[in-house]
Amino acid sequence: MIRKYLKPSHHAHADARGLGELKPVEPAARREGVPLLGDDQVYVMKYGREYHTGWCQIVGDNWGRTPRALLVTRLADVGARTRCQECDRPFKAAGESSGQEYQMQPRPAPEPSPDAVIPLTVKGVAHGILFLSAGPEYKELLGETAVEPATPLYVGGRRDGILVRLDAARVEPLLIVQLDPRATFRDGPYQVRLRRPLQRSATKPYAVASVEPAPGR
Ligand SMILES: [Zn+2]
Repeated sequence: MIRKYLKPSHHAHADARGLGELKPVEPAARREGVPLLGDDQVYVMKYGREYHTGWCQIVGDNWGRTPRALLVTRLADVGARTRCQECDRPFKAAGESSGQEYQMQPRPAPEPSPDAVIPLTVKGVAHGILFLSAGPEYKELLGETAVEPATPLYVGGRRDGILVRLDAARVEPLLIVQLDPRATFRDGPYQVRLRRPLQRSATKPYAVASVEPAPGR
């Protein structure tokens, strides 16, 4: 009986019956519209079979598609929903998906073309999520830019987080980075580096190579 709930769902709109009643609560805070978790809170999707302890790639994707289906509930109220593994191992995806490129090239080579680097400013940091924004003049370029899985935040050559979402629909495009729990936040200017997409099926001409503190400070 329990076993059937542990099976990962392959349906986008999984039938959530039997998982326990959803009891949404107000998030501890909101920043840039993003609900932020309090101590005993987790994310759940309206029709999801899992609960999320952090802002992982899956949460970011869902928030981008259907923000109203992303709910916050108390950990005590998750019912039979299972813990999301992406949340537990936020950087595992690099080794699982298109990991070869990342492992052979832990740090991207300097990009000679200056227009492939876009300056970012810190909009805020809260609950392990870093919010960075770009100027309105980069809205068009970032609208043509995809975020592929496991896009790193590099600080001093170390992978200190992953870029989970790029929202280019705003006047000042917003980048949302999930910080590694062990990472120390560094204030100051950042930048985003673009490259060609790794995926053959890419629908956009650019992808984010990495996010990093801006040099020369
Ligand atoms: Zn998750």
